[in-house]
Amino acid sequence: MEIADLVASKVLDVPDFPKPGIMFKDLMPLFADGPSFAAAVDAIVAEQGADSFDVVAGIEARGFVIAAAIAYATGKGVVPVRKAGKLPRTTVAATYALEYGEATLEVHADAFMAGERVLVVDDVLATGGTAEATLSLVERAGGLVSGFSVVLELSFLKGRERLTGRPVHALLTV
Ligand code: AMP
Repeated sequence: MEIADLVASKVLDVPDFPKPGIMFKDLMPLFADGPSFAAAVDAIVAEQGADSFDVVAGIEARGFVIAAAIAYATGKGVVPVRKAGKLPRTTVAATYALEYGEATLEVHADAFMAGERVLVVDDVLATGGTAEATLSLVERAGGLVSGFSVVLELSFLKGRERLTGRPVHALLTV
């Protein structure tokens, strides 16, 4: 099966979560199925190329799951991009608007060596605010963004337009 079809078969639409009017895309069935999860991780690695990045940054919380698997599969390290107040040492932070609400993300100021190539991953690309904030955080922390991959892109929210000039890749775009 094509990876896009596989992802489509493992996404559950949850209406009105976490707020009325939001159609939440639940990827837990994909994560919970071993062969499907492995296929998704392998497809991201194949698209990006294992030699194109030095470390993987995952966006809290579902991005952690994907980032850790990619990092392990490629022998790279993993860096968490976390919600405000969770990281114990000096951070760089960005506050931005979400499809639902507002959020602040942080990464440790010393998370990356200067010029280190960073693959950023998350589960869903919606409005692109989370990704935009994260990519700038990675750069402010000294990293070079080599790529940005998500499992699922919601094209009607135009996140890709917000990320013009960025290397955006999605396993499935709806
Ligand atoms: P955005 O900043 O609007 O691109 O939102 C992306 C972040 O919010 C990702 O970390 C997603 O996990 C989450 N998210 C936003 N909208 C949805 C949605 N409709 N279904 C699932 N996750 C979403």
